[in-house]
Amino acid sequence: DLRVRFAPSPTGMFHVGGARTALFNWALAVRSGGRFVLRIEDTDATRNRPEWTEGIISALDWIGINGGAPAFEGPYFQSAYEPQHREAVAKLLADGKAYHCDCTRELLVARTGSEHKGYDGHCRDRGLTEGAVRFRTPDEGVTVVDDVIRGRVEFPNDAQEDFVIARTDGSPLYVLANAVDDITQGITHVVRGEEHLGNAAKQQLLWPALGATPPVWAHLPVIVNEQRKKLSKRRDKVALEDYRAEGYLAEAMVNYLMLLGWGPGDDREIMPWSEMVPLFRLDAVNSSSAYFDEKKLRAFNGEYIRALPLETFEERCAPYLEADWDREMFSKVAALAQTRIAVLSEIRQNVDFLFLDEPVFDQASWDKAMKNSPVEILTGYLERLDTVSWDPESLKEALEAVGTANGLKLGKAQAPVRVAVTGRTVGLPLFESIEVLGRERAQDRIRAALA
Ligand code: GLU
Repeated sequence: DLRVRFAPSPTGMFHVGGARTALFNWALAVRSGGRFVLRIEDTDATRNRPEWTEGIISALDWIGINGGAPAFEGPYFQSAYEPQHREAVAKLLADGKAYHCDCTRELLVARTGSEHKGYDGHCRDRGLTEGAVRFRTPDEGVTVVDDVIRGRVEFPNDAQEDFVIARTDGSPLYVLANAVDDITQGITHVVRGEEHLGNAAKQQLLWPALGATPPVWAHLPVIVNEQRKKLSKRRDKVALEDYRAEGYLAEAMVNYLMLLGWGPGDDREIMPWSEMVPLFRLDAVNSSSAYFDEKKLRAFNGEYIRALPLETFEERCAPYLEADWDREMFSKVAALAQTRIAVLSEIRQNVDFLFLDEPVFDQASWDKAMKNSPVEILTGYLERLDTVSWDPESLKEALEAVGTANGLKLGKAQAPVRVAVTGRTVGLPLFESIEVLGRERAQDRIRAALA
């Protein structure tokens, strides 16, 4: 049975790249009736923090990967398995597959004459009983990592140094711990980011040395930004949590992330998770880098927002509205807003004019609107609002008439009225907005703008 794992290190905010890796593993486990093991790789005590672990678990839960599902197993914590890691090192030593080494970096550089040459095998047959532990790699031939996505990747053994698997103090290194855990946890497929391909070359040797058959390897393409640079914490918005807070829907996020390196094989892009899972195939994952296009993600999110039942949309907006903003009033414009926003946090600037005593004036909008005979338009419209029948069509006709009297088309005549009433030049359809705002408040705002 297929067993995959997701093995994040809790050293920072949970990254969209990590979410993509998790989703690909999850899709595999779910579609094949296998298991997805969550393993928190928390052995670097200096960089780990419990809140990062909590962040990972809650982010995974948000995108639908959670402990309640039958395919989910864990979380396991790597730090709890240190005894097993040490045992594995001891076994490799006992079998002669690893050896102690006391060479310092300085000595090695002095011997090889280079900072970059790698370890020269000096301690291989010295029979030391202390020092760091190095794994004895083959001197000839090639190590092959047969990767589902990248094909046959060859690593010449003469370029592979005897790498360290435990420090002088006996603590095992990551590359070893990671392999031991995968073996212990019965992992059949290792699906992870391309940056671990070099580790795979070492682990392809470690697995058999530890008595296990290497897993199926699949290294996912790197995710890049607009400049084709690898997505990074410093340069790019990468924290899943930030997207969530901004009002991206989990469904849209999942859909978009699944397409970073994979596609259903036809032109479809907007596709719910449930339809993608049965189609997902590791060997259909592309090996070239995947572009994380925030604009496209936004567009996806807009589509998912528009597809929500109105009531659900209103519920999802709630966190972005003030608690004391009247929900009935909001309901009157929710449908109008739903077609216009791409992320939920944009709801606020679209509807705040209804709830605030005075609209938030945006100076740039104001200056722009003031180009079109604002006083004449506002005065004329104010007067008409006394008697006009209170529906969008009549409200529009009234403004059209005022515009015509001043030689302005509706579009231009709208600008000062919109800014006076809502504070901004862009927003919900104007006449519906005025209708909901009500006669008295609309007139007050126009008066205030004229004052
Ligand atoms: N802990 C590693 C990381 O966060 C994952 C390594 C792996 O998947 O094997 O990059």
